[in-house]
Amino acid sequence: MRINIAKSASFCFGVKRALEIVFKAAQEVGRVYTLGDIVHNEDVAGRIEKSGIKKIGKLKKIKSGSLLIPAHGASRKIFTRASRLGYTIIDATCPMVKEIHKIVKEMRKKGYRIIVIGDKDHDEVRGIAGQLKEKILVIENINRIPLARIKKIKRACVVAQSTQNLKNVLKIVAILKNHVPDLEFFNTICRPTRTKQEEIRRMPLENDVMIIIGSKNSANTKRLYEISRSLNKRSWWVNSPKEIKPAWFKGARSAGISAGASTPEDTIKDIVKYIRSIPG
Ligand code: SF4
Repeated sequence: MRINIAKSASFCFGVKRALEIVFKAAQEVGRVYTLGDIVHNEDVAGRIEKSGIKKIGKLKKIKSGSLLIPAHGASRKIFTRASRLGYTIIDATCPMVKEIHKIVKEMRKKGYRIIVIGDKDHDEVRGIAGQLKEKILVIENINRIPLARIKKIKRACVVAQSTQNLKNVLKIVAILKNHVPDLEFFNTICRPTRTKQEEIRRMPLENDVMIIIGSKNSANTKRLYEISRSLNKRSWWVNSPKEIKPAWFKGARSAGISAGASTPEDTIKDIVKYIRSIPG
């Protein structure tokens, strides 16, 4: 059986950069804290913990120490509160997420109502919302567009969470355009996500089986899986070799492998090794 690995599998640029900052901070700075997981992957979270970085649930007053802001970014409130409570900020926000922050702040200043297409409970969306004093409107999917509220908006700026599915976003924007007279759309889906999505639209059609690797709490892995599954029913989402069933590959001549932006290369290697060991 041929195994085809997506070129974009494993860490995206933003996660790689954030991890470099994390491990450097672990060596050079004193106590470093993170608010929750900084990468949505259990293996990576374990490695971060081992390096001495402490995960906390909420901020409290400290004598000294640093707070690491993850690649998803954080609200302005977290930055100010943390500084007030004694933390030095180490900002590992992905530059592409920072760009979204910049857009929403500028457009809000110009009087546009901000609409974000994304998962309202995701840290990135919370971080975007937390750049502004005014409430933003979050649209999670095409079936949940609050049309009554949308119809009242005269000027809107629409951005997308960086890991959204481009096709779905464009469909939502097309609907919004019918109701908002002045609508500015910024395609803020990041380059690594777009490359991944291009591959995931092609690979399930070219391979008999698709294996999508990533943690169950990774939003972008979930999206890769959903696209893959819609194109090829023999798509499976796993995070370790243990979850793989040899029967999935029965009669398959090729298997395609893709992975979320927070999946470490070691996990991909272990899974590929395991698939290769399955008797044909
Ligand atoms: S998925 Fe995109 S925006 Fe998010 S951290 Fe990676 S490169 Fe940055």
